Amino acid sequence: MDYKKLQKVLEKNEQPAFRFKQIAKAVFHDGISSFDEITTISKDLRMILNKELQIYPFNVKEAVISRDKRAIKALFELEDGNIIESVLISPKPETWSACISSQVGCAMACDFCATGKLGLRRDLTSDEIVSQAVFWRGYLRENNIAGTYTNIVYMGMGEPFMNWENVKESITILTDESLCDFPNRGVSVSTSGVVPGIEKFADTFGQINLAISLHFAFDEKRDEYMPVNKAYNLERLKKSLQYYLSKNKRRLFIEYIMLDGINDSKEDAVALTKYLRSIGDKKLIIVNLIKYNSIDEGFTPSTTDSVQKFKELVKRGGIACTIRKSIGDDIHGACGQLAGKNKCN
Ligand code: SAH
Ligand code: SF4
Repeated sequence: MDYKKLQKVLEKNEQPAFRFKQIAKAVFHDGISSFDEITTISKDLRMILNKELQIYPFNVKEAVISRDKRAIKALFELEDGNIIESVLISPKPETWSACISSQVGCAMACDFCATGKLGLRRDLTSDEIVSQAVFWRGYLRENNIAGTYTNIVYMGMGEPFMNWENVKESITILTDESLCDFPNRGVSVSTSGVVPGIEKFADTFGQINLAISLHFAFDEKRDEYMPVNKAYNLERLKKSLQYYLSKNKRRLFIEYIMLDGINDSKEDAVALTKYLRSIGDKKLIIVNLIKYNSIDEGFTPSTTDSVQKFKELVKRGGIACTIRKSIGDDIHGACGQLAGKNKCN
């Protein structure tokens, strides 16, 4: 819901100030799907709201649940017909985390990513971004699914820092106590390394987590698979991360997809460790090794054995390192698989 429009509608209809709080809570917190559910306001006002406002700026096309019931993928059709995806994931029992999109498609063209293959169709508005997170609140409530839902990750379709203004506004709405009220520490933004965005983010959001999709510790390889590296190479990226760490004493998350024979050798692990140690306080850096999820293009995931060895080498270099389990790949809802089409049917 566009909360600024709600403010205007309430003003025009001479409603008392507390109405805003009441309606914002019902929409953003309880995740109601119709204004008719707010029985504490008059029928007349409900009719006005139904006429003037929309709870979601999209139609929910489909929600698919993975076999292990730990991932639910929703397809949303936007008003202009574009389709975006969002995934609700349960990394631990009774704990939910929403992965949301920031753009339709993505211009960054990373070779291993299904979203990148689409190219950029358009940026999402802040309302379109926020509404994905809010939708899952309603979904959990309506389907009587137990658990806490406090985490939001900007790891769906799109490069958040190529849509900075709308992403900035969306984070503000998601964490505003009088609006969505998600805890700051539960929100994470992931970037492929868009340096100006990292610097603006460091200046704006001291409490929000930052993840960098690094994937390669050699410029030649990063140039080959991630074109963003040609604009902001590893050295330039490092400076922006140092700036980030100088402003926020928070942990910095480094994402690293494990691609068989491409970036999973001993040399790669050593180069990664050296690079990360050169950024600054190594205690603030944590590496997540991610399994490559197939998108039917020339890459193979690294073997379990090489992932394990890689992890040991990074840890030996003094950097915390975890292996991230893939959730939701059977519904094409895992990292890098979001392409706005439902491949389950
Ligand atoms: N554009 C941002 C946010 C999207 S996050 C970014 O790239 O960080 C999606 C995450 O999934 C990124 O870490 C991305 O590098 C990773 N990813 C992309 N394709 C993947 C694939 N096929 N398998 C596993 N992870 C992938
Ligand atoms: Fe875009 Fe991220 Fe996919 Fe790269 S990995 S194409 S930046 S969504």
